[in-house]
Amino acid sequence: MRSWTRPAVPRLPGHGPVPHLWDTPTSSLVEARPLAIASLYVCGITPYDATHLGHAATYLAYDTLIRLWLDAGFDVTYVQNVTDVDDPLLERATATGVDWRELAASQIDLFRADMQSLAVIPPDHYIAVTEVVPSIVEAVQRLLDSGAAYRVGTDVYFDSAAAAAASPWHLGQESRLDRDTMLALSAERGGDPLTPGKRDPLDPVLWRGERAGEPSWPGGGLGPGRPGWHIECSVIAQDFMDIPLTVQGGGHDLVFPHHEFSAGHTAALTGHDHAGIYSHAGLVAYRGEKMSKSLGNLVLVSQLTGAGVDPRGIRLGVLAHHYREDWEWTDGVLDEGIERLHSWSEWAARPTAGEPLLPGLRETLARDLDTPAALALVDAAVLSGVGPADGDLAALHALLGVEIG
Ligand code: ZN
Repeated sequence: MRSWTRPAVPRLPGHGPVPHLWDTPTSSLVEARPLAIASLYVCGITPYDATHLGHAATYLAYDTLIRLWLDAGFDVTYVQNVTDVDDPLLERATATGVDWRELAASQIDLFRADMQSLAVIPPDHYIAVTEVVPSIVEAVQRLLDSGAAYRVGTDVYFDSAAAAAASPWHLGQESRLDRDTMLALSAERGGDPLTPGKRDPLDPVLWRGERAGEPSWPGGGLGPGRPGWHIECSVIAQDFMDIPLTVQGGGHDLVFPHHEFSAGHTAALTGHDHAGIYSHAGLVAYRGEKMSKSLGNLVLVSQLTGAGVDPRGIRLGVLAHHYREDWEWTDGVLDEGIERLHSWSEWAARPTAGEPLLPGLRETLARDLDTPAALALVDAAVLSGVGPADGDLAALHALLGVEIG
């Protein structure tokens, strides 16, 4: 599928250090050093409602990681999916009387426009689930053949215990959660722990047999149906990158069940770990609650830019928060971002002087993408009264994605 236009990323002199990232399973800072090419998979949107700032914050976090890898001299392959067939999308389509394909296409268009306005580096492969159904069917069939999956009626489920016995993965390897927490999260986040006939209530669906009124695809020996959620990301990652990925990323609400079982599926299919690092971004609240479609408390990038807000101000508002924190979007956050953009622009217009920012920015950002500390470094230079050093504006453009002047 078409992604969006790649922003210019200037090449800087020399190379920055290899970035370190917080790894959820080991609760530690790990060097994100690629084996050959840096590979990044970030879970994409379910296109049933508009892109909000919570999404933008997640994709901006991994945009920073890509910028650091490029600056460190690595080639990067970046893959993102679109879950363009899923229960919430179909429910929203039915409720609004819009065809689910039209709803998805219109929301994907909005997402592309928002990402482009924020100068987010696009994925090299932007893949809709509906584009890879035959590959998913083949993978689910292999899991059935190897004993890592079983049928319940016309549905196919992942056998967590069988997969754990035959692969490097076990339930809880990625999330490190206890069973009670997993059961609660499964019920809350798209699992079906109460479905009768499953070997383990936590086992996730791999292939959902055809239901009346729902879209379905030919499944060969599986019968007609549609893919489960976790298998889509596992298969797309395997189809477009080498396993293990350097980094699997997403919002921290994906730690369980989504990333746990994507890891399980990949291990059962390949015999290898899904990723070297599992990285999770914080969630963005608005008016006291997590920003979410179901709560209806969304701030949309397109609304802000439509009202004439400079997208660089939005970007600086987001980058003022550490990506792993949960934080709240307020009008004050936006005002501060816009104010920062103005003061940086005035600074850029002064005659060239001062100490170069590049070494400090590289070092700061390589420590778990510490964008708030990086902004503080620039602020200090702005407050010094003199202008930017040679190369400072290119450094801001390349590493922070903010083009000044
Ligand atoms: Zn995913």
